[in-house]
Amino acid sequence: MHDAVLGHLRQTLHDRLAGHGSVKDRHGEVDQSRTAGRLFAGDYSTSMTAGDEFGGSRLGLGVMHDLDGEVVSLRGRTWRVPADGVPREVDPTEGIAFGVAARGGREHSVAVPAGSDMEGIRAAIDSYLQATHEDPHEVVCAVEIEGDFVDVLLRTVAPPTRDHESLAEVIDDETRFHFPTWRGTLVGFRFPDDSDGQTIPGLHLHGIGQDERTGGHVRDVTARQVVARIWVDEFHPVSEAPGVGVSAGSGAAVDFQRLEGPTADDA
Ligand SMILES: [Zn+2]
Repeated sequence: MHDAVLGHLRQTLHDRLAGHGSVKDRHGEVDQSRTAGRLFAGDYSTSMTAGDEFGGSRLGLGVMHDLDGEVVSLRGRTWRVPADGVPREVDPTEGIAFGVAARGGREHSVAVPAGSDMEGIRAAIDSYLQATHEDPHEVVCAVEIEGDFVDVLLRTVAPPTRDHESLAEVIDDETRFHFPTWRGTLVGFRFPDDSDGQTIPGLHLHGIGQDERTGGHVRDVTARQVVARIWVDEFHPVSEAPGVGVSAGSGAAVDFQRLEGPTADDA
């Protein structure tokens, strides 16, 4: 794993130094530290340090090693949100189990109408992509939405209480925080809906309150008055060495919608 991570970093650095001219002018980059399948299968060990994953990035999200809180990163500052719900800034040397970070690219403004919930936000992003890209269902984009929201449900996770506990089992015990009104910034990604287990599909957002006193993985949210930006990115997953841990495909059976998406009932 360690060699795979280093290999990926070298390759990413090589790609950046090599430039790839016009493509890099148009698209930013999204770097992911581990496959989603491997995380959901229960590998919560350190995949990368917070500094390596989020250093120099515009935004990012993830989860700490040993699942010690959801992670949100915005313009070079990174927080973890432990079970008490209060964000703490993460030192660059601390380890994360999973992280996705966005760098560079051209900024696009997207209109997100007041009253848009998670589904509405996704629809607003998708209609923008549909109007401006030839391959709207294939692209990965970074998302930042800042402003006032209502009916916000954030959640975080805590370290597993027994050995070999899957992420689904941990999430079944997730800690939820509900805010009738909330001001802050949502950051995350719109990945293609089809996932082979490597990526978390659909719209995935984490939030940090304007006062930095609240944060977490966004389960439910409704926009009131917001400014939304996206960056269309190239995806650079970490390459797992063959035979190391579980395969990327093992995440295909994960019910991402139930575990990560809007709550069906008790929001
Ligand atoms: Zn999340």
